[in-house]
Formats: sequence, C-alpha cells, structure tokens
Amino acid sequence: MREEKALFIIFGGTGDLAQRKLYPALFNLYRRGHIQKSFAVIGTARRPWTDEHYREVVADSIRGSVDADFYTEAMVENFADHFYYQSHNVNDTEHYMILKKLAQQLDDEYEIGGNRVFYLAMSPRFFGTIAEHLKTQKLVTDHGYNRVVVEKPFGRDLATATELNQSIEKYFPADSIFRIDHYLGKAMIQNITAIRFGNSIFRNLWNNRYIDNIQITLSESLGVEERAGYYETAGALRDMVQNHILQIVSLLTMNAPVSFNDQDLRQEKISALKSLKVYTPDEVAHNFVRGQYGPGEGVHAYRDEDNIADDSAIETFVAGKLEVENMNFAGVPVYIRTGKRLATKATRIDVIFKKMPTNIFPGVALTNNVLSIDVDPNEEITLYINDKDYDTGFKMKQLPLAYRNQNRDCPEAYEKLLHDLLRGDATNFTHWEEVKYSWQFVDAIRSAWDMETPAFPNYESGSMGPQAADELLARDGKQWFFDP
Ligand code: NAD
Repeated sequence: MREEKALFIIFGGTGDLAQRKLYPALFNLYRRGHIQKSFAVIGTARRPWTDEHYREVVADSIRGSVDADFYTEAMVENFADHFYYQSHNVNDTEHYMILKKLAQQLDDEYEIGGNRVFYLAMSPRFFGTIAEHLKTQKLVTDHGYNRVVVEKPFGRDLATATELNQSIEKYFPADSIFRIDHYLGKAMIQNITAIRFGNSIFRNLWNNRYIDNIQITLSESLGVEERAGYYETAGALRDMVQNHILQIVSLLTMNAPVSFNDQDLRQEKISALKSLKVYTPDEVAHNFVRGQYGPGEGVHAYRDEDNIADDSAIETFVAGKLEVENMNFAGVPVYIRTGKRLATKATRIDVIFKKMPTNIFPGVALTNNVLSIDVDPNEEITLYINDKDYDTGFKMKQLPLAYRNQNRDCPEAYEKLLHDLLRGDATNFTHWEEVKYSWQFVDAIRSAWDMETPAFPNYESGSMGPQAADELLARDGKQWFFDP
C-alpha cells in the first residue's frame, strides 16, 4: 500500500462537518493504510481546547460512526495521537505565525516532506482571509504540494461565487483548489461514468434516439432541522440544484471524454453544463415548480419551525424540466426534483428509454425499458426489461434485473474524496467553470422567482411535493417512474 504523506490543517476543527465526516474518513484511510506514519492533523477553531481534549473528540467521532468490527481501541488511540489542536481566530495574523511554527515542527517530527492540505471546514465568508494569511504568513511550503479544500456553498449566485473564487485564486493556483461536492464521492454517482463508457450497449443507446427522458430525484424525509439559519438564506435551488443535481446532470449528458482523467472528464462536464438552456422568466414559469412544506402527520409546517420567518418565501422543494442543447441530448427532457419532508429519503436516477417503435404482440402492453440507479439508500442498479410471463399463453411482465452492492465496508464519499485529494486527482472535484455555468443556469430561475411572491405552503409533509411537479411531466405525456 502506498503511503500518502501529508499535514492537514483543518479550519473549523471543532465543527459538525469535521466531527461527523472528516475524522471518520481520515481514520478509514488510516486503517486501510493510505495514511500511516507520516501524517499529522492540526485542528483549529476559536475554542480553547487542549490536544488531549481534541484527541478525545476525534476518538469519539470514530467510535460514533465507524463500524466496531473494523477497528480496535488501540488503532483509534494511535490514530488520535497524530492530532494537535491550535486555538485560532481566522482574522488574527499572530495566530497564523503560531500555526506556522507548529506546522513546521510536525512536518519535521513526522517526516512529512512539505505536503500540506488546508481544509476550510467553515463559513465561506472566511475563505478569502484564510487564503491570504496562509500565503502572506508563509504557511505554504516550497518543497511539497499545497492544496486547499473548500466546502459548499460556493457563493449564492454567479457574482458572489466569482468574487469568492478570485479571493482564493489570488493566492493559490487554480489546480491546487479542490471544491468538494460530496455527491461526486458517492459510489453510484461514480458508477455513472463506468456504466456509460464501459458498456457498448449503453454507449450506443445513450442519446436522443433511444432515451425518452431522464429523471433525477433527491428527496429527503426530514425537515429543515437545525440548519434553519442557513436554509433561510439559501433554499432548495441553491442548496441542492446548483451543485449536486447539476453535477449529476452533467455526468449523465456529457460526451465521452478522450480519456478517464481529471482534465478530459472535466472538459466534457463543463461542455454539458454550458449546453443547458438558460431560461427566460416565462420559460422558468413553464418549466420550474417551487414548493414549501405545510404540516403533516405529527410535524410542523416549514413556517412554524424554529428560527423560520412566519411568512418565509424560501422554497423547500424544486422540480424542473431541463433542456440540454447538444447533439446527443437535444429533445430529451431531464426532469429533476428535490425537497424536504417528502414521502421518503432517496437519491436516484431513472433513465427512461423509448418505447419499441411498433408492438408486434397483439393485446399486450409493452413498458419502457428503464435503467434505475439507486444512489441512496441501497446502492443498486436495476434494468427493467419486458419479459414473457412463465405461463401458458403469451403475456408480458416488467422484469427488474437488479444488482445491489452488499459490501459493508465500502469507502464512504468523504474517504474516497480525501484519498483522491492526497493523490492530486481532481476528477471528482468541481472545476470553477462548472460552478460558473451552474450558477448561470440557476440565477435565471432565482431572478424569475424573486419577481413574484409564491403562494406557500403548497405541499403536505409526507407527500412527494406539489401537484404541479406531477403536472410538469403529465403535460408531456409522462410520469415520475419513482413513485414511493
Ligand atoms: P459548524 O458551525 O459546525 O463549524 C464551524 C467551525 O468554524 C467551528 O469549528 C467554529 O469554531 C469555526 N469558526 C467559526 N468562526 C471562526 C473564527 N472567526 N475563527 C476561527 N474559527 C471559527 O459548521 P459545519 O457544519 O462544520 O460546516 C462547515 C462548512 O462546511 C460550512 O461552509 C458548511 O456550509 C459546509 N458544509 C457542512 C456540511 C455538514 O454536513 N455539516 C455539509 C456540507 C457543507
């Protein structure tokens, strides 16, 4: 196993993301041997923690999220010994000088060789100032790599995203900035490229001659929970569509990359996002639906949740019909929907193939072939075909040919992404140009919506969203394939 050497500096080391995702992901890399001896982690945040307390927090986060069959207490303790805490205010120059000394000391002690990962697990409003200080206070090394990782949200529209990007690119070269979209680390999302470009049957069918429509569903059964403050400034369009959903759309509709490497793949994703038709306000009204949940069985309406305005116009649901204007996908509607307090939690893609051009079986109904990719919760691929009933006479039924990943120890999204990061592989991170075209598409919807006050709430908690989301397909003579 090749050992990746790195010093991680995690800004926001006491935060939710660090504890729920980053520490377990680093531990899994450790137990699999991707990081071994030559690594150390400095956690920084405002709280005055000691190294001992920090190590306890790290150990607890592992005990709380990694399956007990996969580790021993000794492993957890040895791993946590690599963690150091430095209390820090991101605006205070002196703190960066202290951080630099500690980083140098750990680099020597663990023989890291100058590789640094600066993980910005905190509010994006601090990204610019952190990037500036890292550079001016010389926390970057000249004898290893220096990589910056940033989390979503990356801006709230194209203008703010551009500003944010410039504030980082001023101090770090574009190829050292890794923008996380954790959906790109999910096994079944990564499988899209494998299915499309590793199988000649799909290569030949993956276009407007054979695909009738594509449906993407990212539904949550929970409400806004403790993210009210952020959600009231974002809404489902910014929170889910601009990043996760459009990333999935780009993987499904891009042309074949010349080769499976980060540059070629990103090039095609950028082109796919550039091909999205940016709607006029009238087209937005025709092709997009927004919703906000009302009460349901035992649960409040969005407007009655804590820290939510009584007259909030924030959408907790979006459905839309996208048009991809390239040779292969022109004319194939891509229907998307995402929302909170829906009937079930699911992330899935349903690719609906066209009906047979003619039906030679008198009195027998033929269904569309469908390729379903269940991303969450099951990691399952199903191909639906028409099959003869095993009976006398000649009847047909829809037969699901399914494969479900049963491996309990599959690397989780953050583990895979951190591993890619250590190897310098940016395939599963979002390029700035992708962010740019995504915002361009989303801004057109947002600005059309901002011209009118919506009649909210307009869907019941526990349903699959407003009726208009079904009508969006019905008027095209279609329906949602996934109907929980
Ligand atoms: P959080 O509020 O739990 O943690 C924020 C961290 O920043 C804390 O460690 C806090 O001490 C530190 N901090 C705040 N102000 C500071 C200052 N002036 N100086 C030094 N440290 C300061 O937030 P989180 O949920 O961990 O999210 C972190 C980032 O990741 C955010 O950008 C968020 O949007 C993004 N994100 C989080 C999740 C998640 O699941 N939590 C998912 C996707 C993206």
